[in-house]
Amino acid sequence: MITSKNPYNGEEIAQIKEFDQADINKALDLADNTFKTWRETSYKHRSELMMKAAEELKENKQEYARMITLEMGKPISQSISEIEKCAWVCEYYAENAEKHLENEIIETDADTSYVSYEPIGVVLAVMPWNYPFWQVFRFAAPALMAGNIGVLKHASNVMQSAENIQKVFERAGFPKGCFQNLPISSSKVEGILRDKRVKAATLTGSKPAGSSVASIAGEEIKKTVLELGGSNALVIFKDANIEEAVKTCVQARFQNTGQSCIAGKRLIVHEDIADSFIKKFKEQVSELKSGDPSEEDTFIGVLSREDLAEDLEKQVNDSVEQGAKIVLGGKRKGTYFEPTIISNVTKEMPIFKEETFGPAISITTFKDDEEAVSLVNYSDFGLGVSIFTEDVGRAKRLVPMFDDGAVFVNELVKSDPRLPFGGTKISGYGRELSAHGIREFVNRKTVYFNSYW
Ligand code: NAP
Repeated sequence: MITSKNPYNGEEIAQIKEFDQADINKALDLADNTFKTWRETSYKHRSELMMKAAEELKENKQEYARMITLEMGKPISQSISEIEKCAWVCEYYAENAEKHLENEIIETDADTSYVSYEPIGVVLAVMPWNYPFWQVFRFAAPALMAGNIGVLKHASNVMQSAENIQKVFERAGFPKGCFQNLPISSSKVEGILRDKRVKAATLTGSKPAGSSVASIAGEEIKKTVLELGGSNALVIFKDANIEEAVKTCVQARFQNTGQSCIAGKRLIVHEDIADSFIKKFKEQVSELKSGDPSEEDTFIGVLSREDLAEDLEKQVNDSVEQGAKIVLGGKRKGTYFEPTIISNVTKEMPIFKEETFGPAISITTFKDDEEAVSLVNYSDFGLGVSIFTEDVGRAKRLVPMFDDGAVFVNELVKSDPRLPFGGTKISGYGRELSAHGIREFVNRKTVYFNSYW
């Protein structure tokens, strides 16, 4: 049995029976068989169903959001926004998949030659708990629209949300095998990955999980997309609009109680403005309301598991021992971690070098543009960076110097169905969303027509 527990009060929510080998076999058979017919369906048909999935999400957003909040402690207003965003990605791919995958004519010596983008079959998605719906939908909407089939291994602490996602597709009218949730522990992933009926895998999660899945898939010569951790920097240049930058940085770090791969985890501030920036930043962070995640006005909930809160506590304490200074917060009570600001951080400290997955932000200062870029790139992670400056020329000059998968100017790094999303270095490879995302799990087939007459 896999147990779902509310991280806010420790109460058990449900016991879910784990699939045994026979259940997995049955599910993979259904997935494989469904592919044979699903791949033949028209974009028009798939779009109609995907639009219905969007409607289902919007109509029942309270129900789905409530379970997210119960299972992983996300404040309810943010859980509702997550469901709305899932509806958006369904609508986006319902409207754009055909265009993204239309044949690409290439002029050659042939009568006609082109690339056609064709589905590959069953794709395994291994997903994390931090955005239990969004992470899955940003994979599933393009995968199903491309004619593929999805099987989900979700994080063990959000198994009811995983069941709800399958329910969304069933209620929308998708054939039963198009998207299936497999309630399993991670030890069963290897067998599924090696199964001939599974053609590829996508994983969003930590480096160890990504590395394990990619190694096994590599042995089997199966394609993978990895969306792993991040330690995004927020760089505040001397000429930044401080008022606006402070507001954006508070959101960038503290939404989802800091448990986001693309959160701005390292504030890198020009030394001349550091004191005034920190003062304003502290004022705004102090005003964030912590509390019961099921209450509408709560902004900071709890961390999704106590061991994760303990990890963060250790990173903070170890950094303080190495000379960092607590500006705000720093304490943990069970799964609750106070919104925390830490200054005097150097690049060797854990809160700078490692990913921090909770409401804590490090502050480091810099002297010039070169030092700022070097501090950003020092990280092993490469998901994204936000830079704050009023000088467009500086921003344009600096954009190519960052190693990351995304640079946002005067904005927090965010995912948007219209834009590709993904990292470099140990943040992973491959892209989700936009035309780039839907083309990850397709056969880019070269077609060449010649005639002898
Ligand atoms: P995690 O421990 O890696 O878990 C993610 C998923 O992988 C879960 O379903 C987990 O199942 C499974 N898993 C764990 N170890 C595995 C293994 N050896 N083989 C196969 N599957 C395995 O990560 P997490 O703690 O849930 O999530 C936090 C991490 O995800 C952070 O590093 C965060 O930055 C990253 N993340 C990245 C993105 C992105 O888009 N780049 C988005 C969100 C989160 P169990 O729950 O059963 O262990």
